[in-house]
Amino acid sequence: MTPKAKPCSCCGASAAFSLSLLISSLSVTPRQQKCSLSVPLCADCVEELCTVDVAQITEELRNALKNAYTAIKVAVSECAQHRDTSKS
Ligand SMILES: [Zn+2]
Repeated sequence: MTPKAKPCSCCGASAAFSLSLLISSLSVTPRQQKCSLSVPLCADCVEELCTVDVAQITEELRNALKNAYTAIKVAVSECAQHRDTSKS
């Protein structure tokens, strides 16, 4: 069985890499970390991402970042609440 190649989220060619974004909090301990969903990309598009302006980052990658950022904001605020309402 050959695994079915995922299409590049950018250009539709068969993807060679899977890119995910890891975001971690520096100001909260224990450190909170969230990883975005992975975005399949072909080698050409990864190289392009390394050089293009941030404004040109693909929508899918931007959404992945948004989701990871939203998740970590929730995690960080829950962490803060735990501290405030520590066991009575
Ligand atoms: Zn591509």
